[in-house]
Amino acid sequence: DVQLSLRVSAIKPSPTLAVTSRAAALRAEGKDIIGLGAGEPDFDTPKHIKDAAIAAISAGQTKYTAVDGTAELKQAIINKLSNDNQLIYQPNQILVSSGGKQSFFNLALALLNPGDEVIIPAPYWVSYPDMVKIAEARPIIISTLEENRFKLTAEQLSAAITDKTRLVVLNSPSNPTGVAYTKADLAALAEVLQAHPKVLIATDDMYEKILWSDEPFCNIVNAAPDLYPRTIVLNGVSKAYSMTGWRIGYAAGPANLIAAMKKIQSQSTSNACSISQAAATAALSNSQACVKEMVKAFKVRHDLVVERLNQLPGVSCIEADGAFYAFANFNEAMNNKGMNSDVDFAEYLLEQARVALVPGSAFGAPGYMRLSYATSEAILNEALDRIHQAL
Ligand code: PLP
Repeated sequence: DVQLSLRVSAIKPSPTLAVTSRAAALRAEGKDIIGLGAGEPDFDTPKHIKDAAIAAISAGQTKYTAVDGTAELKQAIINKLSNDNQLIYQPNQILVSSGGKQSFFNLALALLNPGDEVIIPAPYWVSYPDMVKIAEARPIIISTLEENRFKLTAEQLSAAITDKTRLVVLNSPSNPTGVAYTKADLAALAEVLQAHPKVLIATDDMYEKILWSDEPFCNIVNAAPDLYPRTIVLNGVSKAYSMTGWRIGYAAGPANLIAAMKKIQSQSTSNACSISQAAATAALSNSQACVKEMVKAFKVRHDLVVERLNQLPGVSCIEADGAFYAFANFNEAMNNKGMNSDVDFAEYLLEQARVALVPGSAFGAPGYMRLSYATSEAILNEALDRIHQAL
């Protein structure tokens, strides 16, 4: 075998993608598997967005673009951030990348030095800790409590900050819990951060649009505008517009940090796909009715899934504020079966119930299971019947 780098040896492949491919492999063997592991909406990309991509191809927009994105898309992002989030940015503060994943990767490589600490509340999106490790920095995982709706408290944040802390990562609504921080929650965290001016904040707003409340979405800069100069806003079109395959994410933040992230990107992938950029421009610039339709469907499924999970023996699940995940406590159900590893338990459910869920330990929260309800109510009901049977 070829000897590999220490860097790659320190990380693991994305566990959520692994569950999806394991379910696909079993399905290819002819097994009837319901996959509730995927982190993507089941809806098709809206037609007006696909049409914009086709028009871009016909118009010859098939060449390199500026590394940081086309002028049109950057302007659409600036308008979106201004209209939806009351945040004002100049074009040199925006970087378009190949998905939200690359946005965070660029950030990690542009910001972090070996030994720097990055505070990541758990349960977390699976990729944050490993991307921090690729940048040779240290993920500092802070376990949140279900009683606190899996939200980082000001006390926990304060206790975690050291003189090595470089970045705090916030994700609201959260993957995997679907929980959103309130303005008051964020104001309390901001108060802690105000005492630590060298710490930057990454706010991953990827699920911003998938929120049940009529209250407007709020991130930490909305709660504490003085944090604007040291906050990087991460967002994208993948989840809101059912565009996971198009690979468009973006970052907005301090100009010199954005320039550094652009430099990293210029030496790795260059611009995001030109055609996808045209599609993303159309997504952000036109009617948002398609988003509302999807959110309505997600809310109905959320209510169904949370109610049914709470009826399962040994399972409980808190209500989410948005996204399309239920994060259910399976500790008692596992005990009932004499199992203590949620990874083994996910395997058990895959074999006995033929349902693929992602074990909580993938998100730094063992004993839980993430169920993605980005699928029809009929399939969700069938999956929950099967899980009930297996329990
Ligand atoms: N951030 C969060 C919290 C996510 O859940 C995801 C996708 O699963 C991403 C970022 C990245 O999205 P993408 O790279 O598909 O745009």
